[in-house]
Amino acid sequence: MKIETLAVHAAHTIDPATGAVSSPIHLSTTFERDAEGTYSRGFMYTRNNNPNRQALEQGISALEGGAAAAAFASGTGASMSIFQALAPGDHVLAHVDAYYGTSRLLREIFQRWGLDVSFIDMSDLGAAEKALHPKTKLAWMETPSNPLLKIVDLAAVARIVHEAGAICVCDNTWAPALQRPFDLGADLVLHSTTKYFGGHCDVLGGVVVSKVENDFFRRIRSIQYEGGAVPSPFDCWLILRGMRTLPWRMRAHSENAMRVADFLSRHRNVSRVHYPGLKSHPGHEIAAKQMSIRSTNAQDKLFGGMLSFEVKDGRDAAMSVAAKTKIFTRATSLGGVESLIEHRASIEGAGTTSPEGLLRLSIGLENAEDLIEDLDQALG
Ligand SMILES: *Cc1c(COP(=O)(O)O)cnc(C)c1O
Repeated sequence: MKIETLAVHAAHTIDPATGAVSSPIHLSTTFERDAEGTYSRGFMYTRNNNPNRQALEQGISALEGGAAAAAFASGTGASMSIFQALAPGDHVLAHVDAYYGTSRLLREIFQRWGLDVSFIDMSDLGAAEKALHPKTKLAWMETPSNPLLKIVDLAAVARIVHEAGAICVCDNTWAPALQRPFDLGADLVLHSTTKYFGGHCDVLGGVVVSKVENDFFRRIRSIQYEGGAVPSPFDCWLILRGMRTLPWRMRAHSENAMRVADFLSRHRNVSRVHYPGLKSHPGHEIAAKQMSIRSTNAQDKLFGGMLSFEVKDGRDAAMSVAAKTKIFTRATSLGGVESLIEHRASIEGAGTTSPEGLLRLSIGLENAEDLIEDLDQALG
């Protein structure tokens, strides 16, 4: 099946009891045991497993081309489970421009817990190679990165990481349906499903997908139900509903973002635009190789719905642009139908590496002309 069809049909079943086309939400926390003491229907207690969570895990796993998935109450909860599956003393390579919450998790919780972490620029292969050492167990890749939209060459990094005997995780939150990390060598894929999978800024969630069902993934699975950071049945239902339209939404987000990036790159009050779809972007060629929807004859190159740009006169000018937008909402997060604008440096606070004049945009599903007009009046 092509990805649009898979998104609609993966883990979709007609409810055998009622014929309901949209699956019921199973709120029951506990499930009946058979007379002879077994649980032949596969469910015992909802923290261990639940029909809605199982459907979500099977659906996302099918879409990513993985073997199994574990869903969590947030993207951060999903990231935690991966680090917790390591052992104190293990060395982790992380992208210096990784999601701020992931870097903070590593610095504030897992370095104290005994993980040895090196933050490096993974778009620089030489730097990645130099940072590997015999205790390296895992490399954390994220592309496009946040907020500078740096592009990591997934296949090239995976190759050197595997040669060093470590595993590769790809945080694919920013490019679901566009980027297939398993085909490029990733062992695990992470999504904050709060973003594009949910797609409407109304549900929090995360998932870890594994290429094979191995011991490392079984540890993640046991952290999921023994640690208990599981999503509610309703959250799972909402995220799976979001997945049904994901490829089409990603296509529209990307087309809108390309037009907005093109407009900004020609604006006199903008000094830089960070968007991998622009030919001037240093990662453009790699992004063009690894980001697309392959299901059409044309194999459309699509570069995602996120971009950032720098306003010429720095922080105050950037704040004033954000203050003047009318269609863009000033808010953090991404991946919803509505466009958002955010001054990253002041959200990240102390230790931020975001340029002070930088504004990050999550491009929604409005008409691109209205978005461009709004940014034009705010920049003017
Ligand atoms: C939002 C985000 C996360 C964290 O997800 P939550 O659902 O907010 O916990 C992780 N990685 C990336 C790239 C994100 O954008």
